[in-house]
Amino acid sequence: MTAVGARLVVAAADTIRTHADELTTLDRAIGDGDHGINLRRGFDAVAEQTDELAALPLGGALEKAGVTLVMKVGGASGPLYGSLLIAMGKSLGDGPVSVATIAEAFSEGVEKVKARGRSDAGAKTMLDVLVPVRESLAANIDRPVPDILTTIQEVADTSLEATRDMVATKGRASFLGPRSRGHLDPGARSSTLLIRAVCAVVGESA
Ligand code: ADP
Ligand code: MG
Repeated sequence: MTAVGARLVVAAADTIRTHADELTTLDRAIGDGDHGINLRRGFDAVAEQTDELAALPLGGALEKAGVTLVMKVGGASGPLYGSLLIAMGKSLGDGPVSVATIAEAFSEGVEKVKARGRSDAGAKTMLDVLVPVRESLAANIDRPVPDILTTIQEVADTSLEATRDMVATKGRASFLGPRSRGHLDPGARSSTLLIRAVCAVVGESA
Protein backbone atom coordinates (compact mmCIF):
# COMPACT_ATOMS: atom_id res chain seq x y z
CA MET A 1 0.00 0.00 0.00
CA THR A 2 0.96 3.62 -0.09
CA ALA A 3 0.55 6.52 2.31
CA VAL A 4 -3.05 6.61 1.07
CA GLY A 5 -3.51 3.03 2.27
CA ALA A 6 -2.30 3.95 5.74
CA ARG A 7 -4.68 6.91 5.78
CA LEU A 8 -7.55 4.58 4.83
CA VAL A 9 -6.82 2.34 7.81
CA VAL A 10 -6.61 5.28 10.19
CA ALA A 11 -9.79 6.88 8.80
CA ALA A 12 -11.77 3.62 9.08
CA ALA A 13 -10.65 3.04 12.66
CA ASP A 14 -11.32 6.70 13.55
CA THR A 15 -14.88 6.73 12.30
CA ILE A 16 -15.69 3.48 14.10
CA ARG A 17 -14.17 4.84 17.33
CA THR A 18 -16.02 8.15 17.01
CA HIS A 19 -19.36 6.45 16.35
CA ALA A 20 -18.96 3.35 18.55
CA ASP A 21 -21.54 4.54 21.09
CA GLU A 22 -24.04 5.37 18.36
CA LEU A 23 -23.59 1.91 16.78
CA THR A 24 -24.02 0.26 20.13
CA THR A 25 -27.17 2.27 20.83
CA LEU A 26 -28.64 1.23 17.47
CA ASP A 27 -27.79 -2.40 18.23
CA ARG A 28 -29.36 -2.10 21.69
CA ALA A 29 -32.69 -1.24 20.04
CA ILE A 30 -32.89 -4.29 17.76
CA GLY A 31 -29.96 -6.53 18.72
CA ASP A 32 -27.76 -7.15 21.73
CA GLY A 33 -26.03 -3.77 22.05
CA ASP A 34 -22.50 -4.73 21.08
CA HIS A 35 -22.02 -3.61 17.45
CA GLY A 36 -19.92 -0.54 18.32
CA ILE A 37 -17.89 -2.49 20.87
CA ASN A 38 -17.31 -5.34 18.41
CA LEU A 39 -16.21 -3.12 15.56
CA ARG A 40 -14.06 -0.89 17.74
CA ARG A 41 -12.16 -3.93 18.96
CA GLY A 42 -11.65 -5.12 15.39
CA PHE A 43 -10.73 -1.82 13.79
CA ASP A 44 -8.42 -0.85 16.66
CA ALA A 45 -6.58 -4.14 16.05
CA VAL A 46 -6.36 -3.34 12.33
CA ALA A 47 -5.09 0.18 13.13
CA GLU A 48 -2.32 -1.31 15.28
CA GLN A 49 -1.11 -3.08 12.11
CA THR A 50 -1.03 0.12 10.04
CA ASP A 51 2.73 0.01 9.41
CA GLU A 52 2.70 -3.67 8.41
CA LEU A 53 -0.35 -3.12 6.20
CA ALA A 54 1.20 -0.08 4.54
CA ALA A 55 4.17 -2.22 3.46
CA LEU A 56 1.92 -4.68 1.56
CA PRO A 57 0.27 -4.31 -1.86
CA LEU A 58 -3.36 -3.15 -1.47
CA GLY A 59 -4.71 -6.67 -2.13
CA GLY A 60 -2.52 -8.27 0.53
CA ALA A 61 -3.28 -5.49 3.00
CA LEU A 62 -7.05 -5.93 2.59
CA GLU A 63 -6.70 -9.68 3.11
CA LYS A 64 -4.62 -9.23 6.24
CA ALA A 65 -7.00 -6.62 7.66
CA GLY A 66 -9.93 -8.94 6.88
CA VAL A 67 -8.32 -11.83 8.75
CA THR A 68 -7.79 -9.54 11.75
CA LEU A 69 -11.47 -8.53 11.73
CA VAL A 70 -12.57 -12.18 11.57
CA MET A 71 -10.33 -12.99 14.54
CA LYS A 72 -10.99 -9.95 16.72
CA VAL A 73 -14.68 -9.13 16.26
CA GLY A 74 -16.91 -11.36 18.33
CA GLY A 75 -20.27 -10.74 16.65
CA ALA A 76 -21.74 -11.66 13.29
CA SER A 77 -20.35 -8.48 11.77
CA GLY A 78 -16.67 -9.52 12.13
CA PRO A 79 -16.78 -12.53 9.80
CA LEU A 80 -19.01 -10.55 7.42
CA TYR A 81 -16.74 -7.48 7.16
CA GLY A 82 -13.73 -9.82 7.27
CA SER A 83 -15.06 -11.82 4.30
CA LEU A 84 -15.70 -8.60 2.41
CA LEU A 85 -12.09 -7.43 2.81
CA ILE A 86 -10.53 -10.86 2.23
CA ALA A 87 -12.48 -11.35 -1.01
CA MET A 88 -11.62 -7.81 -2.15
CA GLY A 89 -7.95 -8.47 -1.40
CA LYS A 90 -7.95 -11.76 -3.31
CA SER A 91 -9.62 -10.09 -6.26
CA LEU A 92 -7.08 -7.24 -6.38
CA GLY A 93 -4.05 -9.46 -5.70
CA ASP A 94 -0.87 -7.75 -6.86
CA GLY A 95 -2.63 -6.40 -9.94
CA PRO A 96 -3.31 -2.81 -10.94
CA VAL A 97 -5.51 -0.62 -8.75
CA SER A 98 -8.06 1.33 -10.75
CA VAL A 99 -11.72 2.28 -10.43
CA ALA A 100 -12.56 -0.79 -12.52
CA THR A 101 -10.52 -3.25 -10.43
CA ILE A 102 -11.81 -1.76 -7.16
CA ALA A 103 -15.41 -1.98 -8.40
CA GLU A 104 -14.87 -5.61 -9.40
CA ALA A 105 -13.19 -6.40 -6.07
CA PHE A 106 -16.02 -4.73 -4.12
CA SER A 107 -18.55 -6.72 -6.12
CA GLU A 108 -16.80 -9.99 -5.25
CA GLY A 109 -16.57 -8.91 -1.62
CA VAL A 110 -20.30 -8.20 -1.43
CA GLU A 111 -21.02 -11.63 -2.94
CA LYS A 112 -18.96 -13.18 -0.14
CA VAL A 113 -20.95 -11.27 2.49
CA LYS A 114 -24.15 -12.60 0.94
CA ALA A 115 -22.80 -16.15 0.94
CA ARG A 116 -21.44 -15.97 4.47
CA GLY A 117 -24.61 -14.33 5.84
CA ARG A 118 -26.91 -16.51 3.70
CA SER A 119 -28.58 -13.20 3.02
CA ASP A 120 -29.24 -10.49 0.46
CA ALA A 121 -30.56 -6.95 0.29
CA GLY A 122 -34.03 -6.58 1.83
CA ALA A 123 -33.31 -8.38 5.12
CA LYS A 124 -32.41 -5.16 7.02
CA THR A 125 -28.67 -5.73 7.26
CA MET A 126 -25.41 -4.18 6.09
CA LEU A 127 -26.24 -5.67 2.68
CA ASP A 128 -28.96 -3.03 2.30
CA VAL A 129 -26.15 -0.50 1.98
CA LEU A 130 -23.45 -2.67 0.40
CA VAL A 131 -25.59 -4.01 -2.48
CA PRO A 132 -26.91 -0.62 -3.72
CA VAL A 133 -23.44 0.92 -3.38
CA ARG A 134 -22.01 -1.92 -5.43
CA GLU A 135 -24.65 -1.34 -8.10
CA SER A 136 -24.05 2.39 -8.12
CA LEU A 137 -20.29 1.91 -8.38
CA ALA A 138 -20.68 -0.50 -11.30
CA ALA A 139 -23.10 1.84 -13.09
CA ASN A 140 -20.91 4.94 -12.67
CA ILE A 141 -17.51 3.44 -13.35
CA ASP A 142 -16.76 5.70 -16.32
CA ARG A 143 -17.54 8.98 -14.55
CA PRO A 144 -14.87 11.20 -12.96
CA VAL A 145 -13.75 9.95 -9.54
CA PRO A 146 -15.15 12.92 -7.57
CA ASP A 147 -18.60 12.31 -9.10
CA ILE A 148 -18.40 8.59 -8.27
CA LEU A 149 -17.48 9.41 -4.67
CA THR A 150 -20.36 11.86 -4.27
CA THR A 151 -22.83 9.45 -5.84
CA ILE A 152 -21.95 6.41 -3.78
CA GLN A 153 -22.04 8.42 -0.53
CA GLU A 154 -25.54 9.63 -1.41
CA VAL A 155 -26.61 6.09 -2.27
CA ALA A 156 -25.20 4.83 1.04
CA ASP A 157 -27.09 7.51 3.02
CA THR A 158 -30.40 6.90 1.24
CA SER A 159 -30.01 3.14 1.53
CA LEU A 160 -29.23 3.38 5.24
CA GLU A 161 -32.35 5.48 5.82
CA ALA A 162 -34.41 2.88 3.93
CA THR A 163 -33.49 0.20 6.50
CA ARG A 164 -35.61 2.06 9.08
CA ASP A 165 -38.88 0.84 7.58
CA MET A 166 -37.68 -2.70 6.92
CA VAL A 167 -38.51 -5.76 8.96
CA ALA A 168 -35.39 -7.79 9.77
CA THR A 169 -35.33 -11.35 8.49
CA LYS A 170 -31.63 -12.10 9.20
CA GLY A 171 -29.40 -11.72 12.23
CA ARG A 172 -30.47 -11.03 15.81
CA ALA A 173 -32.89 -8.27 14.81
CA SER A 174 -35.00 -10.91 13.04
CA PHE A 175 -35.95 -12.28 16.49
CA LEU A 176 -38.02 -9.10 16.95
CA GLY A 177 -39.99 -9.66 13.75
CA PRO A 178 -42.20 -6.64 12.96
CA ARG A 179 -40.92 -4.83 16.08
CA SER A 180 -37.61 -4.38 14.28
CA ARG A 181 -39.36 -1.79 12.11
CA GLY A 182 -38.72 1.86 12.98
CA HIS A 183 -35.00 1.51 13.73
CA LEU A 184 -31.94 1.89 11.51
CA ASP A 185 -29.90 -1.29 11.11
CA PRO A 186 -26.60 -0.97 13.02
CA GLY A 187 -24.58 -2.81 10.35
CA ALA A 188 -26.06 -0.63 7.62
CA ARG A 189 -24.97 2.40 9.67
CA SER A 190 -21.42 1.08 10.13
CA SER A 191 -21.20 0.30 6.40
CA THR A 192 -22.24 3.87 5.61
CA LEU A 193 -19.65 5.25 8.02
CA LEU A 194 -16.89 3.11 6.51
CA ILE A 195 -17.87 3.99 2.94
CA ARG A 196 -17.88 7.71 3.85
CA ALA A 197 -14.47 7.40 5.49
CA VAL A 198 -12.98 5.64 2.47
CA CYS A 199 -14.53 8.17 0.06
CA ALA A 200 -13.15 11.08 2.11
CA VAL A 201 -9.60 9.72 1.95
CA VAL A 202 -9.82 8.84 -1.74
CA GLY A 203 -11.35 12.27 -2.46
CA GLU A 204 -8.46 14.07 -0.73
CA SER A 205 -5.89 12.05 -2.67
CA ALA A 206 -7.59 12.08 -6.09
P1 ADP B 1 -24.23 -9.74 16.50
O1 ADP B 1 -25.53 -9.63 15.75
O2 ADP B 1 -23.66 -11.10 16.48
O3 ADP B 1 -24.34 -9.15 17.87
P2 ADP B 1 -23.04 -7.26 15.57
O4 ADP B 1 -23.93 -6.60 16.55
O5 ADP B 1 -21.61 -6.89 15.61
O6 ADP B 1 -23.16 -8.85 15.68
O7 ADP B 1 -23.54 -6.96 14.10
C1 ADP B 1 -24.92 -6.85 13.80
C2 ADP B 1 -25.08 -6.46 12.34
O8 ADP B 1 -24.58 -7.50 11.50
C3 ADP B 1 -26.52 -6.27 11.93
O9 ADP B 1 -26.95 -4.95 12.19
C4 ADP B 1 -26.52 -6.60 10.45
O10 ADP B 1 -26.25 -5.45 9.66
C5 ADP B 1 -25.34 -7.54 10.31
N1 ADP B 1 -25.81 -8.91 10.11
C6 ADP B 1 -26.22 -9.80 11.03
N2 ADP B 1 -26.57 -10.97 10.46
C7 ADP B 1 -26.38 -10.81 9.13
C8 ADP B 1 -26.54 -11.66 7.97
N3 ADP B 1 -26.96 -12.93 8.07
N4 ADP B 1 -26.22 -11.14 6.75
C9 ADP B 1 -25.77 -9.88 6.63
N5 ADP B 1 -25.59 -9.05 7.67
C10 ADP B 1 -25.89 -9.50 8.89
MG1 MG C 1 -24.87 -7.20 18.24
